Order: sequence, then structure tokens, then C-alpha cells
Amino acid sequence: MDPTVNHLIQLQELTQVREEQRVAGGAAHLERINSAIDSMTEQLPSGIKATFEKLHKKDQHVIVPVSESVCSVCGMQLPRSLVQQVRLAEALQSCPNCARFLYMPDAVARNVRPRPGRFDARKPGVSRFSSAGLMIPDLGCDTKDDAIAALANRMESEGFVDKGELLLEEALRREALYSTAVDHGLAFPHVRGVEGGALALAVGLSKEGIRFDGPKGELTHMVFFMVIPTAASAFYLKLLAGLTETFMDEAPRAALMEAEDQAAMWKVLVKVTRKAIK
Ligand SMILES: [Zn+2]
Repeated sequence: MDPTVNHLIQLQELTQVREEQRVAGGAAHLERINSAIDSMTEQLPSGIKATFEKLHKKDQHVIVPVSESVCSVCGMQLPRSLVQQVRLAEALQSCPNCARFLYMPDAVARNVRPRPGRFDARKPGVSRFSSAGLMIPDLGCDTKDDAIAALANRMESEGFVDKGELLLEEALRREALYSTAVDHGLAFPHVRGVEGGALALAVGLSKEGIRFDGPKGELTHMVFFMVIPTAASAFYLKLLAGLTETFMDEAPRAALMEAEDQAAMWKVLVKVTRKAIK
């Protein structure tokens, strides 16, 4: 396999972490992430480095997964021979339409919930990508592995994704790169590249707190777990910003933590995020 493929994937992940940290307020670590990004960019072969920088100016999508023979960002149906070359990964390949580099992901979970039809009424706020069934008022565990496992399994049992165990694996890999826990006892574990449907959000609470490697060793009390199709990356950052903004304040945090059951939790979530999440 061409080592540049993995190098680009890792570099792109770091640029995504940087955006997430900017949005969710972890600015203290930006310097460290920036220097890692700079040194990884320097290590790229010169032609690829130029393309990387050019693509990166447009958006964060530089190397994107092929999903069912389609470029997951621009949606172009790729020729079979190209898909085969991407799978072999002997050399870096690009999408003929959007020029982004392509890679074939390992086994990944897929979003299996049908997208809303063109004529379905557009639901407001969080109702578009979550539901009462995805609320867990008491996670009943104290480690991030168990917390993410509970949320990933819930997404599977509620029919949002297949293969919950693959989601868990991917989410933990992302956590290992950089903890998604931020101030105020919030954490935003997630899995990108879950194609086939829309973004989905599951929320779990813990009054006792979960060890999530958060800033200053703070325990996490609210876990927002998201699966994100590649094409929804920009929306995901907006959502992350909306949730962070909402729960920076004490009152909405207290209101959600007080919810005793799924229905109550869902009602509070819909209400307190109404302004920040359109
Ligand atoms: Zn494309």
C-alpha cells in the first residue's frame, strides 16, 4: 500500500481535530495540534503537498472515502476500474470530478435509517437527527469505553446504524488520537464516514461522572455521541458549536441532568437547543 494514503488520512484527521477543538473551545491545545499538522504536511512528497494545500483551502475534505463506488463528498459514480485501483492502493488516486484524493475504508458501520423523502415535512432542530429512543438518562458506568458502547448499541438497536461494535471501535480510535471531552463535563465522541444516511445523535447522562480524559481531569456528565456521513462534516461542526454554546450555561445543563426518564430528557433537549440548533 502506498504509505502516502495513510499519511494523508492521519493528517486530515488532525485538521478535523483542530476544527473540532476550535469549535468546542479547547483552544489551549491548538498550538500542539498545529505543530503536528505542520510537520506532517512537510513530510508529504512535494507534488502531493501542493495538491493537499490547494484542496485544503477549499474545505477539510482532502482524502475522502469511496462508498458503494461513489465519491462520498461530490457524489460522483466512479468508474469500476478506478474503484479497483483505489482498493489496491498501490498509488494515490483522485476523484475525476472534484479532484479529492480517494481511499477505500476498512469495514465500517453504515447508516441504515432511510433519509426523509422530498415531500416529508422538515422536522425542526434536533428532531431531524435524533429521537427520544436515543436518550439514555443514566449510562450506569464510569468509563468512556462503556459509555460509548452503550450509545453505539443504542444507535444500532434503534435502527439508525448497523454494526454497533464497529462504531465503538472507530469512536475509541478517534478518542485515542485526542479526547473529545471538553469543559463543563461535556464530551463529543463521534465516528466520521458513516455513509448511507443522515447524521445521527445519541445522548447519555451520568450523575456520578465518567472518566473521559477530559481537561484538568474533570469527570464527564453528558456524552453526545454522533455518527457523521462525510458530506455532513460542515453541518457537524455547526451542530457541535450549537451544543457547546447551549450547554456552556449552567441552567440547561441542570435541566437535562434532572431528567429522570427518556421522555423527559428528550423534551428538555428539544427545548434547550431550540435557539442554537435550527
Ligand atoms: Zn469527488
